[in-house]
Amino acid sequence: MIRRELLEYASSFMLLTVITVTISMMVMAGLFYLGPRAATLLAFGGKSIAASTSTLTSVSSSTVIPASRAKVDEVEVQVTLEAQAGIVQESTVQAVKGKIGIVAGHWKSDSGAVCPDGLQEAQINLSVAQKVVSALISRGYSTELLAEFDPRISGFVADAFLSIHSDSCVTNVSGFKISRFSLSKNPTVDDRLVNCLYTEYGKATGLPRHEATVTLNMLHYHGLRDKSPETPGAIIELGFLGSNRDVLTGKQDVITNGLVNGLTCFLQISTAP
Ligand SMILES: [Zn+2]
Repeated sequence: MIRRELLEYASSFMLLTVITVTISMMVMAGLFYLGPRAATLLAFGGKSIAASTSTLTSVSSSTVIPASRAKVDEVEVQVTLEAQAGIVQESTVQAVKGKIGIVAGHWKSDSGAVCPDGLQEAQINLSVAQKVVSALISRGYSTELLAEFDPRISGFVADAFLSIHSDSCVTNVSGFKISRFSLSKNPTVDDRLVNCLYTEYGKATGLPRHEATVTLNMLHYHGLRDKSPETPGAIIELGFLGSNRDVLTGKQDVITNGLVNGLTCFLQISTAP
């Protein structure tokens, strides 16, 4: 009897335990399904959720964006300071625009024409050639000063080549003349260089053209023959040591401007897109 009562008591206790555990699990599952919202609703109610959302929005628009803006300002200030200090190289380094060869006629070879008073053609040629070379370099061109029979002339490759000479000491004719190589491989290109030089040199110096006296020596000039056939080239007689002496000796800056403008006229046309 006692044993049977004990068994009945034990089975009632187990049934009660199973019912309690099942109810607890159902309550926990319901809370899990509703998630944090249920927990917040339980703790603060709907109003406090709306308030915290609006606080987050105002933080992102008033604090986060100004922070990244401040960083951009910092970079801009740094670049400005570098530019002022000359660290930014784009504004200080000039790109090489092209290569040019300038021959000082008769230099390191002979005197050229010599006038009765001792004035030598080679002196005028060298003085003008040196001025032209420095003017071209200051304008960003890579420029080489060459002697009459400079070994570098053989196969010389450049964007332009000009040999500078002056004419005889006669006083009965006046003017300047320019020629390309008579057997040029690119006569159209060479003629463009010649035309630019004729126009700009004439405009700068006011000297007349004296094309009628272009000589065979100019047409078959060794420098134009020996440079690379692809290099555009010309030879100029700046004027007569006799009749144009005032220009050749006293206005070399004007002469230089005319030659530089003629060369850059040609180079700008030939490098245009
Ligand atoms: Zn000469």
